[in-house]
Amino acid sequence: MNCATAKPLMDLHILGALSVTEYAAFERHLAECPWCLRLRAAKQLIASVMRRAIPQLEPPGHLRSRIMAEVNRDAIKPPSSSGVAETL
Ligand SMILES: [Zn+2]
Repeated sequence: MNCATAKPLMDLHILGALSVTEYAAFERHLAECPWCLRLRAAKQLIASVMRRAIPQLEPPGHLRSRIMAEVNRDAIKPPSSSGVAETL
């Protein structure tokens, strides 16, 4: 990994959204790149300030059930075992 490939992963790293493989490669790059290490520190500080500055709101109770109903409605259902056997 170099700075050009590390930079797009910086925000995902701060959010904890990297895969294990990406995280390991990113950390190896930070160990050898003071520029990216300083950039990460600056971005972590900004993220920390923003988390404290923006009030965290509790979503309404019905929101989770509505979202999950939509997810389940749009989920791709696995074919039934009888359906697969019939098409083969
Ligand atoms: Zn770098």
